[in-house]
Amino acid sequence: MQPGGLALKENLLEIKSAFTSYFKEREAEINGSLLAVLSGENILFLGPPGTAKTQLAKNICQSIEGGNFFNYLLTSFSTPEEIFGPLSLKALEEDEFRRKIDGCLPTAHVALLDEIFKASSAILNSLLTILNERKYHNGREIVDVPLLSVFGASNEFPEEDESLEALFDRFLFRYRLSYIQDDENFRNLLFRSPDDFEPSVSIQVSAIYGLRENAKNLPVDPDVELIITELRKNLQLQEIEISDRRWKKVIQVLKVAACSSGCIAVDRTMALLLQHMLWNLPEEREFIRKTVFELVVSGGISTEKLHQEAEDLQAAVSIALKNELPVKVVCDSCGEEFLLRQEIEIHHVSHQNHSYTLKKEGASKIYPYDNLIREIDSLYGTAVKASTLPPSQKEVFEKEFETLSDKVRRVKYRLEEERELLKRLMEANIWLSTLDRNEALLLHDARSIELSELDILISKAQSMLGLQSRQVQPKPQPAKEESKVYVPDSGSSVNSFMKGIGSRLRLK
Ligand SMILES: [Zn+2]
Repeated sequence: MQPGGLALKENLLEIKSAFTSYFKEREAEINGSLLAVLSGENILFLGPPGTAKTQLAKNICQSIEGGNFFNYLLTSFSTPEEIFGPLSLKALEEDEFRRKIDGCLPTAHVALLDEIFKASSAILNSLLTILNERKYHNGREIVDVPLLSVFGASNEFPEEDESLEALFDRFLFRYRLSYIQDDENFRNLLFRSPDDFEPSVSIQVSAIYGLRENAKNLPVDPDVELIITELRKNLQLQEIEISDRRWKKVIQVLKVAACSSGCIAVDRTMALLLQHMLWNLPEEREFIRKTVFELVVSGGISTEKLHQEAEDLQAAVSIALKNELPVKVVCDSCGEEFLLRQEIEIHHVSHQNHSYTLKKEGASKIYPYDNLIREIDSLYGTAVKASTLPPSQKEVFEKEFETLSDKVRRVKYRLEEERELLKRLMEANIWLSTLDRNEALLLHDARSIELSELDILISKAQSMLGLQSRQVQPKPQPAKEESKVYVPDSGSSVNSFMKGIGSRLRLK
């Protein structure tokens, strides 16, 4: 079975399930750790000590066949010997400056560096080279290190320091850990969990390299390109700048995620993983997560725009109705005639003492201003009918409402199809946590609820006009709809977004 094929996926699923049942409330971190190892990226855990970071890193390393694990707690006094190995005396005798790297970071597959931001400048240079290039300069020799991933842990953010910021930047995956929240999980941790756990399934290093190679050629869906572009724009508006290099690495990770899930392309659900790769400051996390979810879930269907249209239309109706007087009004004092309520109001401001006559059939009665307004309001109560609008205007409204209901109906249908697609894609994506899956579907369903509210809004406005609200018709014929599905007009990017979705829909 080739790397990236079913065998690897099955192994990963087995490892994931063993880890998640042992490490409670760490599903996202477990997924991130495995994905970091597979894609050769480093992962940072920010959070208090005693959150099982060391054990997680050690066990992840155990799930790699023949994997060497290196673990070190850094202090500001730590020396290069402790991380990279002691100086070789034999080499020194030959005037060579070389370290015995066995059992140290340069020979590790997975390493956990605790309190990583305490690293002194003596350590930092070599560390950055290892993190960046997977190379170690041992004297005159440049060694390719087998390192798959460094797990960095820290309780605090790096202080403002250029080289520490460079170090922070080398961690593509970033997670914030807290203590176990759930009581049951806490009790299990204390009283029922075995102290240690050893993964029974392992992955071969060669399979990991094979996977990375295969992932390189994986196509990326057009909607993912749009999500990334939109996301970058959104982040820039919040002054969150992501380097081009980081974006490139992110894409490579998404490819590895898709390839190891056995997918034939990077679909938009992979982009949900971006929530763990883009934030710099903890306060950016929620914004990024929310934005990523919205972009991925919306599928380019904007119900907001439809909502705005319906509200505008309703406002127009009510203005037209209230403004349009139910009967013609004449000023009894100066003879001016009024068709709009607004005109009377303006007239009253400059001619406070004038009184008015309603031009009704039969006897006419003279009203002082206040009484006139009351009379008009009472007429509205019973007489707001289509007849109060000129037929031409009514027709315009009628058409607009028809167009709008049509759009709503189509978007509704689209959303239903979308939900199935989203669900299917998420089920195939092995890197999403249960929480992520549920949240994405909830977000999607919120849109359907918005649409139902829209229906109510539209039929209310229609009945105000005395129009019959057209009941939502049965589903349109998909084959016919495909070519002329109407997407709410909100920019060309959305349209090409929909093309991407369309092409996926046809894949079914
Ligand atoms: Zn007057």
